[in-house]
Amino acid sequence: MKISLLTFSHFIHFLSSLHRCRCCSLLPSSLLLGHSAMLLQPRLLPRVLSISSKPRFSPFSTHASQITIPLPSPPIVSPLTPESDLDPSTQNPITLPLQKLFVPPETQLPGDATSASAHTRVLTGSNIVLGPYAYDSQVVNAEFVKSSVRTADCPSDGLPEFALVGRSNVGKSSLLNSLVRRKKLALTSKKPGKTQCINHFRINDKWYLVDLPGYGYAAAPHESRLNWEEFTKDYFLKRETLVSVFLLIDASIPAKKIDLDYASWLGQNQIPMTIIFTKCDKRKKKKNGGRRPEENAETFQSLISEFFESTPPWIMTSTVTNMGRDEILLHMSQLRNYWLKH
Ligand code: GDP
Repeated sequence: MKISLLTFSHFIHFLSSLHRCRCCSLLPSSLLLGHSAMLLQPRLLPRVLSISSKPRFSPFSTHASQITIPLPSPPIVSPLTPESDLDPSTQNPITLPLQKLFVPPETQLPGDATSASAHTRVLTGSNIVLGPYAYDSQVVNAEFVKSSVRTADCPSDGLPEFALVGRSNVGKSSLLNSLVRRKKLALTSKKPGKTQCINHFRINDKWYLVDLPGYGYAAAPHESRLNWEEFTKDYFLKRETLVSVFLLIDASIPAKKIDLDYASWLGQNQIPMTIIFTKCDKRKKKKNGGRRPEENAETFQSLISEFFESTPPWIMTSTVTNMGRDEILLHMSQLRNYWLKH
């Protein structure tokens, strides 16, 4: 068990009870290839753990290197969207140390990786390096398939899937609609009777986007919250075709304990996770803590770094400007194609 020093005193009790992500604590931090492989394929865990503790692959042996990640070129803002008050300061590029990148398996960075040479391989507004499996990312068609109340009732055709999950109001429906370029597809999940279900949307007849119920709805009775936990945790632990969870975090407000709890649970249970920071177009507001979305995102990452040995993949997004949309699809394509091949 690792107890960490934290700046948020009300998190101390919560965090001190956490274990490190089990898979990561057994691996050297420089074994990025092995860690990424596990993030991609949790069912291969025993095989991955049997790898010799001697690092086979260490692309980031030069610790001083940093990489500058560009944010999207000036976003197109629709005059019909009053919330689209873009903060020009969010357009500063992000600078990351190389060891904070997510490097997919079978991806080699140049041995002498410098910010210039590695630039083109990192997805804009993210820490994700593009690997050889990033292809076939566009959504051509999307259809709602079914709502399930139990994991056992989910589609059984073996297609790979990605689950979207986050607090109520985080922007999950907006993101789902944006990914499939349909205005109201996600409304299906909001119909009475479907909100507490696992909703499957088939994409290009090849893979699924899965909409899970939002958590942390203040008005929900205690009992239904417990049921929700049981139900979604069962899905995460048992669904063999789940390639990765996409955990949505609202970057326009400071980190919430419930989101940190969620990330920690996924880490402890070795569920592969990508963080999607939503609402990154929003200006900082005093009433929301007075911090910019990328500052909130950075704080969130540093808080969850307690649960993970290597930084999980993350992407900054906005459904108002479409920031991150293509990047999410490319990332999903490389996770999916790798998963299919192995
Ligand atoms: P859900 O409850 O997680 O499905 O959230 P919704 O998609 O219904 O969005 C909740 C609210 O956040 C709505 O008012 C959306 O218009 C707003 N919203 C969602 N995504 C964004 C975004 O990227 N930027 C901004 N500014 N607002 C957003």
